[in-house]
Amino acid sequence: MGYSKISYHGNFFDGKKCVYCGSFKVCRTKRGYIKCNKCKKQKGAKILRRELKIILGFYQQQPAYRLASDLGVNYKTITRVYQKLREAIYHVSELESGKLRGEIELDEAYFGGRRKGKRGRGAAGKSIVFGLLERNGRVYTKVVDSVSADELMDHIKKHTRKGSVYFTDTFRSYRSLKRFGKHHTISHGKKFPKTKNHINGIEGFWSFAKHVLYNYRGVSKYHFPMYLKEVEYRFNHRSDNLLKLFTKIYFGYVST
Ligand SMILES: [Zn+2]
Repeated sequence: MGYSKISYHGNFFDGKKCVYCGSFKVCRTKRGYIKCNKCKKQKGAKILRRELKIILGFYQQQPAYRLASDLGVNYKTITRVYQKLREAIYHVSELESGKLRGEIELDEAYFGGRRKGKRGRGAAGKSIVFGLLERNGRVYTKVVDSVSADELMDHIKKHTRKGSVYFTDTFRSYRSLKRFGKHHTISHGKKFPKTKNHINGIEGFWSFAKHVLYNYRGVSKYHFPMYLKEVEYRFNHRSDNLLKLFTKIYFGYVST
């Protein structure tokens, strides 16, 4: 982790900067509150520090039980902050998702469950994710009930601009795409290293997702959509200061 990211956090941590509005006009009250003279919000210094430490742990993808023992804080307190943050990220990520355009890679992936396999018998108990990735842009993910043409086309229409250029594998559900834009299909196993005919972008996202989710071993199917949006957000903002964004999202979203 870069030092700048930590020091950014440090201003909040030392009570020099307001977590709600970013103002430096902050003071400490006699009762131990950090109070902002600009937005007038205040928070107990001790609670604030604890929350900031937990947000840092979330950013570093520390499992809640480990962070609880590292900080000497109740496990439930950690999971409460994690949960609030994850819900807020979910909403922010959905709000940010405009329509993808240009060259777009589409693919489905299967998460969770015990057995390996795709689209067939092994898919039972797994969460099915439909992924749409704009080349040199952002990814949009959706947990879907099925990979039928109707369901996938529905999301394609909702989340991409008509007339885009689509890259997919040869899966049958993508057959009607050509009525919506230009459609290139890629046969798996064939390599076209020097052409645009690939779906390496979305496949890169799947590996990123599996890597992040590995830190949260055993996410239930019920909670999975929330975790997936966190992964999407981390991916879309991988070149930004994620710690800063998480802090903003947390304090901006949660009312005091
Ligand atoms: Zn303020």
